[in-house]
This record gives sequence, C-alpha cells and structure tokens, in this order.
Amino acid sequence: MPHCPTCQKEFQPDDGPAMPFCSERCRMIDLGRWLDEKFGLPVEPEEGGVREPQADADRRG
Ligand SMILES: [Zn+2]
Repeated sequence: MPHCPTCQKEFQPDDGPAMPFCSERCRMIDLGRWLDEKFGLPVEPEEGGVREPQADADRRG
C-alpha cells in the first residue's frame, strides 16, 4: 500500500482520487506548503549600509 506524503497514512490507491495523496485535503496541505516555500521567503535586513554621521568629526590629522 502507498502512504500519503502529507499525513504518512497508508491508503488504498483505489480510494485515492487525489493520488499520490490519500485525500484532497492532504493534497491541498502539501500544495500550501509548497507555496509557502516559494513565496514565504524570510525578509533579511540589508547589511553594510550603516553610516556614522560623526566619522569626520573624530578625525585628527
Ligand atoms: Zn493524507
């Protein structure tokens, strides 16, 4: 028997209209995860753009 990639349950292939998932619900859950990975990228702060406004004032020379 195959097992569902979403819920890991074994199921009868004949009963699975949403192959390779056990049900339409599990199919949608997997699709949701896939979309999360594609569009749910974490926002990273930009680095290297920090400027010290007083940098010139401390310079000796
Ligand atoms: Zn399932």
